[in-house]
Amino acid sequence: MKTLTDQYGRTIRKLRVSLTDKCNLRCHYCMPVDATFMEEGRYLSPAEYEEIVAELVGYGLEELRLTGGEPLVRKSFPEIADRFGALNLKKIGLTTNGVLLKRALPVLKRNRIFHLNVSLDSLNAETFRRITNGNRLAQVLEGIEAAVREGFHVKINVVAMRGVNDHEFPDFVEYAKRLGVEVRFLELMRIGFALGEQARQFISAGEILRTLQARYFFRPQSREKDSTSVNYVTACGAEIGFIASESQAFCSQCSRWRLSADGVLRACLLKDDGLSVRHSSPAERAAIYDRVLGMKPN
Ligand code: SAM
Ligand code: SF4
Repeated sequence: MKTLTDQYGRTIRKLRVSLTDKCNLRCHYCMPVDATFMEEGRYLSPAEYEEIVAELVGYGLEELRLTGGEPLVRKSFPEIADRFGALNLKKIGLTTNGVLLKRALPVLKRNRIFHLNVSLDSLNAETFRRITNGNRLAQVLEGIEAAVREGFHVKINVVAMRGVNDHEFPDFVEYAKRLGVEVRFLELMRIGFALGEQARQFISAGEILRTLQARYFFRPQSREKDSTSVNYVTACGAEIGFIASESQAFCSQCSRWRLSADGVLRACLLKDDGLSVRHSSPAERAAIYDRVLGMKPN
């Protein structure tokens, strides 16, 4: 089988697929309150997603992560999930803000989409509203609890922001312990609308760890070599991870590409250069895959 391996020996095994650029929240680091979105006609259709992903499976793709915007606002989410669920993938995950999670659980279950990353930057309703411009904390917590009850593998993503949610970090350790979910602290990345606030609000993963170590004992865990997070278990049994995208970039082991909702394939999660795979034949796409391989930073 031909694999997608670049000149540095990195093989692409994972694809982050955006199903829409729309969202039902407006996290201040991600998009403005008056965000504008693509025309719906530009979105890849369920059949186009299936064709491209099935082809990439033939090139050795093993894992998909569905994302957005907010993937669960895409009207054809059930059809897209059913098409992906029928492919020969080892794992399909979903990254969601959790607002629509509870009602999506049956579709996720029937397609073996068991690995859920749910974004939750605050456990306080007012702080949650200020960060997301949405009064939906109760709904998100309900979705998370329902998913845990039904046996999904849930990780909570917390974007760490100084002066915004840093006082809640210990609450998240307690939350991880109480629900039996892994909580991962993400460094605020210099992308989207975080650019303006990044310098003021940024906290490094190292600083979060040191702060928490004053209260908890952290035992390091082993990790896959292309994992984006560094993981620990506390003495009280909470699973805590850190994603240090800014302070310790993980490019040298990266095995990921991403596909935008309008069909642009990109070699890096943080860079904008990419090539459209839309309206192309398998032979044309083979040439595109080769060029995208060459776009991955080292
Ligand atoms: N809407 C879904 C969600 O919020 O989970 C999926 C898309 S969202 C862009 C994916 C993840 O990226 C979320 O965990 C979000 O918190 C994170 N994110 C977005 N902008 C970020 C930034 N500037 N720095 C760090 N993480 C960011
Ligand atoms: Fe929406 Fe996710 Fe961006 Fe927040 S981080 S605005 S939930 S896409």
